[in-house]
Amino acid sequence: MTKHIGILGGTFDPVHNGHIACADYVQRECGLDTVRLMPCHLPPHRATPGVSAEQRAAMVQLAIAGYPKLALERLELDKQSPSYTFDSLQLLHQREPDSRFYFVIGMDSLCYFRQWKNWPLILKLAHLLVCERPGYQATDGDAPFLLQQYGVTDIGALQQSAVGGILLLNNPLSAISATDIRCQLQHNRAASSALDPAVLNYIQLQQLYQA
Ligand code: ATP
Repeated sequence: MTKHIGILGGTFDPVHNGHIACADYVQRECGLDTVRLMPCHLPPHRATPGVSAEQRAAMVQLAIAGYPKLALERLELDKQSPSYTFDSLQLLHQREPDSRFYFVIGMDSLCYFRQWKNWPLILKLAHLLVCERPGYQATDGDAPFLLQQYGVTDIGALQQSAVGGILLLNNPLSAISATDIRCQLQHNRAASSALDPAVLNYIQLQQLYQA
């Protein structure tokens, strides 16, 4: 039977409650078999000194512990080159030819999606599920063009085809960002409402994100 698999790619530097809420919402709302969080090994644009890919993955593992339908996807961690979504989706298809993939992004990512490597080909490998994020509108950047070309109105319409649709979700808004969390931790300010307690404990034990 075809498996319907969501993939939430990101730096997860660190993973926060906004990521988990988004993944959990998408899994339930779209009835996916699972949503995997896929930390990149080498972010194409940046990385935080002192925090390794394995530490970011360990934090993801802690954050999803209470969510049986969420999983860690190690594919990009096991590569030694920059992570591009197109390459990763190709590998996932080779590994699991009978599955359908739904790539999950926040609205901020949709707004500059046409800068991603081989973006039209990404849409030949997966659907896009877009979570709302405060500060970013469907009228900004690349979003209007993409929604006009590829947008569908509901999950039923999306599943009429195997790939190539973009569905905008109506998820509860979360203003959390990893940038803010790193800043709070560097200034010894509490970030506890934005992080799973086990993740915060790991950060403290490993002395991550210190000034
Ligand atoms: P940073 O602030 O370091 O850029 P981030 O909080 O955006 O990090 P990423 O790991 O870069 O986290 O995000 C991975 C994916 O999750 C992206 O597609 C991003 O749009 C989405 N995302 C992150 N935070 C939220 C949020 N609060 N609401 C909705 N989507 C989010």
